[in-house]
Amino acid sequence: MTAQLIDGKAIAASLRQQIAKRVAERRQQGLRAPGLAVILVGSDPASQVYVSHKRKDCEEVGFVSQAYDLSASTSQAELLALIERLNDDPTIDGILVQLPLPENLDASLLLEHIRPDKDVDGFHPYNIGRLAQRMPLLRPCTPQGIMTLLHSTGVDLYGLHAVVVGASNIVGRPMAMELLLAGCTVTITHRFTKELACHVAQADIVVVAAGKPGLVKGEWIKPGAIVIDVGINRQADGKLTGDVEYDSALPRAGWITPVPGGVGPMTRACLLENTLHAAEHLHK
Ligand code: NAD
Repeated sequence: MTAQLIDGKAIAASLRQQIAKRVAERRQQGLRAPGLAVILVGSDPASQVYVSHKRKDCEEVGFVSQAYDLSASTSQAELLALIERLNDDPTIDGILVQLPLPENLDASLLLEHIRPDKDVDGFHPYNIGRLAQRMPLLRPCTPQGIMTLLHSTGVDLYGLHAVVVGASNIVGRPMAMELLLAGCTVTITHRFTKELACHVAQADIVVVAAGKPGLVKGEWIKPGAIVIDVGINRQADGKLTGDVEYDSALPRAGWITPVPGGVGPMTRACLLENTLHAAEHLHK
């Protein structure tokens, strides 16, 4: 058996097309294009790449993108003032602060300052709380994108055992809540989990977001399972690799996401989806 590939790149492209179509319809109806403000502080090379992709995506679907590239010496007070200004700007539907921030800045406090109905990353405690209480508003992008990938397989998710590897605020924890909401039985594992292999071996769905190349071995995978690899790790030769041993997982899994071309493009597309949602439903 060889796993079927879940083509995140193609699914994300189709989502972007649908969003672009809806934006064009809005413009024809005399409505404004959705607006996304992207704030980058400092010159972290990976963050610069992520931000430039997000701005390019905005252009492609016809959003208005406002770019704020600030020096690493920007103070907390200056950033708070900018967020407040964007909170009050009626042309802005989404505010994104690219993480990680320089160490002198308090990321949690800044993120909590973003108006929850403009928190298109879905990290605000209000939005996480809404997801926990089964009435999501703006959902964290990576788990939301993964749910779209899971639904694309056509597999009925109700009652499946999902094992999430990693328990971060931005991936693992909200992922577990999304899977619970979808009717799965969920196990969350993390760096202190004992016998990780035994947990993974029971999973009908395994979502791996640990940032550890090759952490999950192919032989651990339950035959036929859906394997979602969130990890993005750069090898010495510059190539990207995931957290799952892809070659040995391929013959056991039923479905699998590649790295790159799996979860990453969906995360970007879901940011657009959230921004459009905010413009259509939260800022009429
Ligand atoms: P993080 O460092 O904040 O969290 C990692 C989690 O993995 C922690 O909860 C930790 O306890 C757990 N962990 C570490 N070692 C483990 C082990 N041996 N067994 C089980 N759990 C273990 O990382 P993050 O921000 O959640 O990101 C995780 C990975 O996903 C990274 O490679 C990151 O680059 C990638 N990522 C990808 C996307 C995407 O769109 N594809 C988005 C976000 C993050």
